[in-house]
Amino acid sequence: MADKNLTVEIVTPERMVFSEPAEMVVVPGVEGYLGILPLHAPIVSGLEIGVLKVVNGGKEAKIAISGGFMEVSNDRVVVIADTAEQGNEIDVLRAKSAQERAEQRLNNRTADIDAARAETSLRRAVARLRAAGQD
Ligand code: ATP
Repeated sequence: MADKNLTVEIVTPERMVFSEPAEMVVVPGVEGYLGILPLHAPIVSGLEIGVLKVVNGGKEAKIAISGGFMEVSNDRVVVIADTAEQGNEIDVLRAKSAQERAEQRLNNRTADIDAARAETSLRRAVARLRAAGQD
């Protein structure tokens, strides 16, 4: 196994969320989960709401992201996400109440609810709970 590593940077418009070396990254791409190893060909991909996994030294960090873009070039993985939180930064109660609120909206649909918005909110909450190890 080559001792080459990736450098992973995850940023949002608000802050740098994560910046560390890694052996592998798995990202929620728009066409499904995508694994990135060192020496990967350069790519740019849109990202979905989901959990991004960073594997390093036998450990796996989970980061919830809510869409954005990833660029891979020269073993550098740069993710620009709308929002991103590391598992240990996630307020589990807040995510659970966001999940319940979205589920209630979807279960009691009235003409004026925005179902697409409630579904997106539900997916963000579920991704946060998974990243926080609550699944
Ligand atoms: P909520 O309904 O709980 O406010 P939301 O989906 O409306 O969630 P977002 O618009 O996705 O919130 O995010 C707004 C900001 O709050 C972002 O900076 C995001 O990182 C942060 N955030 C949202 N939910 C959580 C959470 N459960 N734990 C930690 N940070 C969170």
